[in-house]
Amino acid sequence: MEQLECCVCQVSVPVDAPHLGNRVYCARHWATLSHERPGIWRSGALHVAAAVAFAVIVALLARATQPALEGASLVIAGIALALTPAALWLAFFYAQDRLEPEPKGYVLGVFALGALLASAVAIPVLRDLFRVQDWLGSSPLVNLLGSILIVGFVQEFLKYAAVRYSVYLLPEFDERFDGILYGAAAGLGFGAALNIHYVVASRGANLAAVAIQVVVTALAQASFGGVTGYFLGRAKFEEEPIWWLPAGLALAATLNGVFTVALGSLTRSGSALSGQTTNPWYGLALAAIVAAVTLAALIYLMRRSNRLTLAGADLA
Ligand SMILES: [Zn+2]
Repeated sequence: MEQLECCVCQVSVPVDAPHLGNRVYCARHWATLSHERPGIWRSGALHVAAAVAFAVIVALLARATQPALEGASLVIAGIALALTPAALWLAFFYAQDRLEPEPKGYVLGVFALGALLASAVAIPVLRDLFRVQDWLGSSPLVNLLGSILIVGFVQEFLKYAAVRYSVYLLPEFDERFDGILYGAAAGLGFGAALNIHYVVASRGANLAAVAIQVVVTALAQASFGGVTGYFLGRAKFEEEPIWWLPAGLALAATLNGVFTVALGSLTRSGSALSGQTTNPWYGLALAAIVAAVTLAALIYLMRRSNRLTLAGADLA
């Protein structure tokens, strides 16, 4: 007789154990599979609002007080700002975690892995191998295609890899929802590394612009990481076609590239209207909308999957 094993914990299960396609579950992991996590959705929404409020407050304060920071102290203040969106998210997440525990070490580990891959791979590959800075601006079409096919794919593949080849393989990844959680954590780590790189590379940039830029980057990178994570979460627990994960990666890369191009043209057209060199406020509004719409879409899709799973279980 064929031996059946839970696809999460590999415990032997009876032949009539619940299943999705060919994936078989023990009773415990069948119960966790479709966990709704309402608290974590709420802390995600609060984080988007808090990050935007943080950018607005710091930018207005910096303009009003014109702090006399220069050189090293300006860079240190910038790095503190660069890490704030991630710190805010972790604070919301940990506050929520008392109610719905998740292994904290794995969340921090995936965050760190995202940051490491951004600084050790994404930045050098895009700058030194593809040399995107030399050709991306040569025409609007080149900008769009390059932003999706080169920058978007490299960034989103690395976030995918940070989840797929670490926590995805472990029994602690035991809900579809975990894909979104860890994908967003990888994206926030990725964004934090890009932000520190941005602050160090643009030493002397003013704090108002830095505060807005770091929140835009953090919200966008976390949103696209969450999209890839949604596809990963379903791939682990359901039978998906072979194109499922590549399609998820392509969607995240496309959103990433289109966002970057829209951000560039919005902040530039803003400058034409207001007479400034750049207008980062339009970028902040765009990033807030993208993060809110992504969160709402992921909540909708996740609830739909869970409903379908439970409906199928009732039939069986
Ligand atoms: Zn199990």
